[in-house]
Amino acid sequence: MKERSEHLDTAVVHAGQAPEPTTGAVMPPVFQTSTYAQPWPAKHTGYEYARTQNPTREALERCVAALESAEHGIAFGSGLAATSTVLQTLPAGGRVVAGDDLYGGTFRLFHQVYSKRDVSFSLADLTRMDPADAIPEGTHLVWLESPTNPLLKVADIAAIAARCQAIGAKLAVDNTFATPIFQRPLELGADLVVHSSTKYLNGHSDVVGGIALTSDPELATSLRFLQNAAGAVPGPWDAWLTLRGVKTLAIRMAKHQDNARAVVAWLADHPEVKRLHYPLWESDPGHAVASRQMDGFGGMVSFVLDADLARAERFVSATKVFTLAESLGGVESLLELPAAMTHASVPAEQRRQLGIDDGLVRLSLGIEHPDDLIADLAQAMEASRAG
Ligand SMILES: *Cc1c(COP(=O)(O)O)cnc(C)c1O
Repeated sequence: MKERSEHLDTAVVHAGQAPEPTTGAVMPPVFQTSTYAQPWPAKHTGYEYARTQNPTREALERCVAALESAEHGIAFGSGLAATSTVLQTLPAGGRVVAGDDLYGGTFRLFHQVYSKRDVSFSLADLTRMDPADAIPEGTHLVWLESPTNPLLKVADIAAIAARCQAIGAKLAVDNTFATPIFQRPLELGADLVVHSSTKYLNGHSDVVGGIALTSDPELATSLRFLQNAAGAVPGPWDAWLTLRGVKTLAIRMAKHQDNARAVVAWLADHPEVKRLHYPLWESDPGHAVASRQMDGFGGMVSFVLDADLARAERFVSATKVFTLAESLGGVESLLELPAAMTHASVPAEQRRQLGIDDGLVRLSLGIEHPDDLIADLAQAMEASRAG
């Protein structure tokens, strides 16, 4: 782990970026080039081809690495490209234990792509089970989301990291929901952090990207090699937009969280809300661990509407401030129905077992005024009742 010398709200603005040496440009330029001139064969400036090196991408990698207390950042063209590249570091016959409440695309990547390539996956409720029971010896990699998507369950990262260390497994944490503002898994003992930077890191719903962060020198070397050798790199514009988005990450996360608290307080009193998932209250099963390992509870909330699928579909289609869309973490509030949208690739039986009911609604709170968000949910409740 790398010690951070600045506060996070300073680091989001400055980390990894110095004025450009030729002109003094304050923002790192977009190096929109595929190749670099060489004065002599195999003699170059350190930059030879843009899949291998790009200064804009490197600025983003240094910045997010600093936020996650990591020595190394390796950026990719999407969150799933980052995850896929991590799986490529496994030996043939690799064994992975993953949390059972997973982003749907990660579930699909595990079960429809890599399990056909001699990697085996077992799912376990890492938010409830004793890590010694959930993670057998011989495991190469543990893949964890916390808080989970869409049920906002919380896993004890330090306890799972200790188990991994004892049996020589690597622990990777998908930190997309919490962001380094609220949780830094490497500081809790994880080996690797992965983000879909499409979400909060960029924060403006205009880029698809991913990044892996680590201080483990072997993992870093392997991921850096694969970034070039397998080539799932982001373009320089996307890297630049993400770098610009990260500058406001700290103030955005604070506002996302304020809005989540306001909406949760309203939902908690609503007679048509059957269950509410947000680890804010002492009664929430994840509250104690979240309070210990996180600096905030974030901007994602999910709840079960006391309704059948048809009513739930009417509800999510009736909002005017919230946009019905997949994805999350942008300045605008979004809502979605996991059973029909983000988690449709998870088999129905498994969804039921996990508690992803047909009436489960997931909210990504944006940065609008909370009163407008609550009024919008109230009018959609009313409108959807009619049928
Ligand atoms: C969106 C998301 C991903 C996948 O990222 P892409 O950028 O869409 O490829 C992975 N994990 C979580 C938690 C996500 O929300």
